[in-house]
Amino acid sequence: MARYKIAIVGAGPAGYFSAQALQNSETEDLTFAIDLIERLPTPWGLVRSGVAPDHPKIKTVSKVFEKIASHPNFRLFGNVELGTDIQLADLTARYDAVIMCTGSNIGKKLGIPGEDLPGSISAADFVTWYNGHPDYVHVDVDLGIEAAVIIGAGNVAMDCGRILALNPAELDTTDTADHALAKLHSSHIRQVYITGRRGPEHAAFTAPELRDLPKLEHTDVFMDATAIEEALARATAEAIDGELEKDIRNNLEAMRVVAEAEKAGNDRSLTFRFLSAPKEILGDGKVEEILFGINEIRDGKVVDTGATYSIKCGLVITAIGYEALPIDGVSYVKGKIDNVEGRVLGTNIYTVGWAKRGPSGVIGTNKSDATDVVKLVVEDLTAPKVSSDITELLISGHPVVTQLTWEAINAAEVAAGEPLGKPRVKAVSREELLKLGNLLA
Ligand SMILES: Cc1cc2nc3c(=O)[nH]c(=O)nc-3n(C[C@H](O)[C@H](O)[C@H](O)COP(=O)(O)OP(=O)(O)OC[C@H]3O[C@@H](n4cnc5c(N)ncnc54)[C@H](O)[C@@H]3O)c2cc1C
Repeated sequence: MARYKIAIVGAGPAGYFSAQALQNSETEDLTFAIDLIERLPTPWGLVRSGVAPDHPKIKTVSKVFEKIASHPNFRLFGNVELGTDIQLADLTARYDAVIMCTGSNIGKKLGIPGEDLPGSISAADFVTWYNGHPDYVHVDVDLGIEAAVIIGAGNVAMDCGRILALNPAELDTTDTADHALAKLHSSHIRQVYITGRRGPEHAAFTAPELRDLPKLEHTDVFMDATAIEEALARATAEAIDGELEKDIRNNLEAMRVVAEAEKAGNDRSLTFRFLSAPKEILGDGKVEEILFGINEIRDGKVVDTGATYSIKCGLVITAIGYEALPIDGVSYVKGKIDNVEGRVLGTNIYTVGWAKRGPSGVIGTNKSDATDVVKLVVEDLTAPKVSSDITELLISGHPVVTQLTWEAINAAEVAAGEPLGKPRVKAVSREELLKLGNLLA
């Protein structure tokens, strides 16, 4: 019987689904010892620090992760950062395969003048701020202004827009980080704009997120009905045999419902503006206004009309995608780990998830990705390595969050939430988390 040691780096969906795919590949003759290494004292990746707090159902996938973690062949090494606490060469020498599932966590920049003004931030910083990621607790989010503009037409932009536009009381029974909830309660923001460079037919929102918009009780949502009809006409004209792609049709139908929904006259609004290309962020020492070029679609192409308009605002959030923060020893191309179908050629390194594909796909996409890549891992296995444990690599006294420690942290957070009717109260600093895990006094 062969027993192979596999290191998985990054405890997000890709990491857990890779562990699950390995567990599912075990036979009488082939078994695995899986070490999941995570830089934070908490696992679950963007399920904890990305998924919006008002979408608690999505986070129930963590139950699947905990089941995977309960397998006897699984160990968690939380609070251990690859590149700082251990090096990639240490892992590749000790493990039969190393699966990099480190995600994609740096917000892409617009590259326009004024982008670095105070009041202009990335969605990557905003989302992690309201979700209590320890590295983003101190992000300066100015909510003492009337209007905010989100750049981007995908689900991350939608999350940012919704969190700013809804009545914060709607977040009281969620796991929004306490510091963010307090600030959202005193927010002066009443108008939020979500803007996309292309037309409604090109937006990367998904239909369920669009269908949720009319359910916002305290916020009026505006979309231009004419713009949606024009997009429908354009998309139908371009479609093969006049048959619209299912995703586009569903999206445009959901947008039409939003556009036609009766408005309750709330003082809070969320307005969608398409064919708007950000040109410059203006302001004297801080964001005061954003200038857009007006685009149109000509022969299926997005074209600048030369006309412009601007929105007065104090906050601009850029949600135009993510790229990976490079880790020493790995080569990156266009913000992703350089790989061929998940293999890092010439090494025993593999990659799954957003680190491999870039920032696209929902949580479930990482499951099929993991299954495909683990097939390659199994195919490439040779004689198992005889090697020592990684614990000897960690500086003596380095607090490691094991699965048992994490269960203690998790239980403490959930218990703190119970009397408040929340799923949990998040601890937001490393120290606080390690204390909950009894690793610090
Ligand atoms: C704001 C936002 C909202 C989303 N909402 C939804 C949703 O509602 N529904 C849905 O299906 N999908 C949603 N997604 C998409 C989903 O979160 C991703 O598909 C998924 O998280 C990608 O998984 P991953 O494991 O590749 O990356 P991640 O989830 O980012 O996990 C990567 C992990 O690697 C760790 N790591 C990074 N570097 C190191 C290192 N050097 N050493 C050790 N560990 C490291 C990180 O701390 C992290 O835990 C959302 C994404 C975002 C950004």
